[in-house]
Amino acid sequence: MRIARFDGGKIGVVDGDSIVDVTAVCGIDPAEWPAVGPLRLIRDFAALRPAIEAALPTAPRHALADVRLETPVPWPNKVIAYPVNYHAHGREMQANYRATNQGFFLKPSSAVSGPNDPVELPSVPGREVHHESELGIVIGKEVRGLKREDWREAVFGYACLLDMVVRGREERVFRKAYDTFCPVGPWIVTADEVPDPANLDMKLWVGDELRQSANTRDLVLDIPGMIETASAVMTLYPGDIIATGTPEGVGPVVDGDVIRIVIDQVGEMNVPVVQGNRGMTEVFAQPYVPPIIKQN
Ligand code: MN
Repeated sequence: MRIARFDGGKIGVVDGDSIVDVTAVCGIDPAEWPAVGPLRLIRDFAALRPAIEAALPTAPRHALADVRLETPVPWPNKVIAYPVNYHAHGREMQANYRATNQGFFLKPSSAVSGPNDPVELPSVPGREVHHESELGIVIGKEVRGLKREDWREAVFGYACLLDMVVRGREERVFRKAYDTFCPVGPWIVTADEVPDPANLDMKLWVGDELRQSANTRDLVLDIPGMIETASAVMTLYPGDIIATGTPEGVGPVVDGDVIRIVIDQVGEMNVPVVQGNRGMTEVFAQPYVPPIIKQN
């Protein structure tokens, strides 16, 4: 099932070219603040699913093209992100570590945005903002200390995710924390529809230029390992998101670009990029001459 959020917090099931409004069945108030209804939906999904399926023939139905999709989980408890989790990306970044010996970092929930929300580039002269295409995992169950063989228990579904970053040597979290630096969507595909998430083609274009093309089989720390590692440290909650890492081919985006990410069996997002005038801080005052081949 493809679970989407649209038109101001409504919950929809995507069915081909249409979307069925199941907000009422899910018992969610689209106007609630904070918008944590999707967390309850994910927690209670097994119990709600029969009612959702029963409502599909009669619930309000719209053409997918006529609605505005929003990020499916706007208030996750946390976004866990694994750095340098493909060897080829590690080589292009000249990183001497991998996710297997570095662990993870966090992106703030406030950075999460949707497939139709433009990425707002901060005004940080002399710096590049790079795209990172990643498979997003949405956690479905509260777990702590989960063993790798039990990883499927914890997974609700999958989404496309962009881990945007200002390149530099400052704290990674600082450079990855800007609003709109974590587009997630266009919906969540429930785990039953992705039998093998460790064999998904993932591609990213900027405009017509193919920048990243990889398969999740090349993850260094695999999905069971990522869940085991995260849950060893923290309680994972329904709606938590794991950014699984980006393959090689990262590069800069500028005002007017459109970032297209496509993941097999999951979906596609076309995210516009706009130049904003906010976000400069003294932290970025010092120039950065990076060891990244990609940076001109
Ligand atoms: Mn990343």
